[in-house]
Amino acid sequence: MKTQKTTTKEINAASIARISDKSGKFLGYLVKSNSSENYYQVTWNESASRYECNCVATCKCCHIKAVEQAQKARIEASRREEKRAAFVAMYDPCLVA
Ligand SMILES: [Zn+2]
Repeated sequence: MKTQKTTTKEINAASIARISDKSGKFLGYLVKSNSSENYYQVTWNESASRYECNCVATCKCCHIKAVEQAQKARIEASRREEKRAAFVAMYDPCLVA
């Protein structure tokens, strides 16, 4: 008998692609499904101020979570870089390239 694991796999950031229209305007993200070769579109709903996904899930799905996680990671990385730059500028101006 096969036992099925119920743990939800996290989608890694590598399977997230940005989508934009022809003029380059940001529309949302394309997120690859964990269980199949399908891609889902996670788009930003301006009026509702939230992301929406076109998969079958009715609540916040793992695709939206993956997008939010990827954005959070990027913001944190840029904050770290800002802090580092500020620190370097304050304490060691010679290191500012
Ligand atoms: Zn989804």
